[in-house]
Amino acid sequence: MDNYSFSYRWHFTSSSTPSKLWPYLSNTNQLFKDLDQLPIQPASVSHNLPKGHRELTYDLIHKLDIWEEEPYEWEAPYHLKFRRNYKNGPYKTLLLGIDIAEKEYGSKVTFRFSGEANGFSSLLRIKTHFTGFFKRTIKQVIQKYDKTIQSGNHSSLKRSFFSFRNNSKWEILTNDLTELSNKPFLSKQLIKTLRNGDTQSLKSMKPTALSKLWDQPLAQTLEILFYAAKLDILNFEWEITCPTCRQVEQKKNKLREITGPLFCSYCKSNFDIDFHNTVHLVFRPNPLVRKLDKKTYCHANPSKRPHIKLHQYIYPGQRRFVKLDLPPGSYKLQSNISDSTVFADVEEGGLEYAKISFNKNDHSHQTVTLGTSPNLIIHNQTEERIFVIAEDMDWKEYSVSASEVTSTQLFRNLFPDETLRPEQKLKCSDLTVMFTDLLNSASIYNSEGEENAIGQVIDHFEVLRQIILEERGAIVKTIGDAIMAIFQKPVHAVRAFQKAQYHFNTSTGEKNTIHLKGGIHMGDCVAVSLNNRIDFFGNTINIASRLVEEAKSEEVVISDSALASKELKDLIDDEDSRLKVHQTDVSLKGYENVHFEAKRLVLRNSTLRLVV
Ligand SMILES: [Zn+2]
Repeated sequence: MDNYSFSYRWHFTSSSTPSKLWPYLSNTNQLFKDLDQLPIQPASVSHNLPKGHRELTYDLIHKLDIWEEEPYEWEAPYHLKFRRNYKNGPYKTLLLGIDIAEKEYGSKVTFRFSGEANGFSSLLRIKTHFTGFFKRTIKQVIQKYDKTIQSGNHSSLKRSFFSFRNNSKWEILTNDLTELSNKPFLSKQLIKTLRNGDTQSLKSMKPTALSKLWDQPLAQTLEILFYAAKLDILNFEWEITCPTCRQVEQKKNKLREITGPLFCSYCKSNFDIDFHNTVHLVFRPNPLVRKLDKKTYCHANPSKRPHIKLHQYIYPGQRRFVKLDLPPGSYKLQSNISDSTVFADVEEGGLEYAKISFNKNDHSHQTVTLGTSPNLIIHNQTEERIFVIAEDMDWKEYSVSASEVTSTQLFRNLFPDETLRPEQKLKCSDLTVMFTDLLNSASIYNSEGEENAIGQVIDHFEVLRQIILEERGAIVKTIGDAIMAIFQKPVHAVRAFQKAQYHFNTSTGEKNTIHLKGGIHMGDCVAVSLNNRIDFFGNTINIASRLVEEAKSEEVVISDSALASKELKDLIDDEDSRLKVHQTDVSLKGYENVHFEAKRLVLRNSTLRLVV
């Protein structure tokens, strides 16, 4: 049999480190565009393809090339590769690999192309494609990325490939936004990003990414984005992601257009919409402000899922050696065929080498402490090819959820019709709910006189609103002197309670100090629209509202399910946090027969009264 295989391996030098270069080279959609590749389109809607595979073509009319593309494999920030199996066209197979090796001068970047041609004349055609010209283009693109990185514009959002002849449009937009928002710095940052950002990144602008890019708190970043949407500088979209693979499955302009369940084309399974975990807010420029290229250059763009650090196929019996570079935090390693999970805490001084095996019918959960540059040996002990991913457990940090956004006061004021359809109920899983109440409102009213007392109570709501917002929470409603707030995580709720009480203890006189009490619970509930705004219902909410009744002054009664989260445990273990856990017997009205455990979390700040 004739051999029509080809193989190219080109080396390039880069002045940037692998972790700096990774966001650019793993953004394959932008990379392929920068490399002058043709836009691609799905060739057919086929449900027979294996999980994560797609059938693609350059040209839907002539379909001269149709290929099946396997999911990318990557080890952030060192390796990236994909494979295409062709149905027609000059190629039979094509493999692309990009390796980034750390060097004293920055990185050595290797582009590997290999595969098989469909006959001799096809091989000649392919060889003319892989000429020095293509190699030069890659070199130029890497140099361009280096320049952007060196100029301090770390994120691809800041890459500037455009220049505009007149500045007036951008000046007007900056002025309008500053006037409405009263935030001159952030107004300037946003308009600069809209003006200079690259097309692919602007298509889905994540508030969390912008907050990092501008080095500003998320709450402030969200506010400027809301104002810009109000002025029609930006449009917002609700992205609905699959809970398993976190691929975006649907985008909607209005919350009331959301309907489920949805089918994930990647996992090949149905999933329910979760208002707290699978619906996220993103922004894109109004086309009148900045027109974006509608084309796609690479579907399986790894940079779309930056929380996934490792994405690998491993053959039966194979041992794979992988090296990762991970920021400290919590990660989860999982395969597609077994229930076993390895939880990895990454910290300085953790293990440099670890062996992780995957077996069929294994349901174990292990925990391992890894260093920040771990070398892993992943062993597939099953009889089939498995798929292993390592995911940052803090994936919620990468986007803002619909529950969070719609409970924000400014968003509600600016977009009052962003609610659910009247009959619609959307589940919210793992929602952290906190109720707070004023312990001594009667004494404030008696000693202050009614007018002053009302003022003080209203001020206390404003303090809570601000502090809760800083902790990625939002007040859903106030009930008398009490508030109900939701959070991403229990640790946020506890910190907000602590900060608020600290504020009251240090800012008001001894006599009229506001004493809060709190109740925190985490669990599932349901979001519905009521009185034109979104509210939450269910046992989780009821229990949290009962827990606050059990609390004494300056303490939180917290359910064991909320207390179990690792970050909260770390906060309590930290001597400086001055939090103390007391055992408690809590019997809740209406829940006497339900096995339920809760603890008292007492603030032990030296400026606080000690409660024992
Ligand atoms: Zn999926």
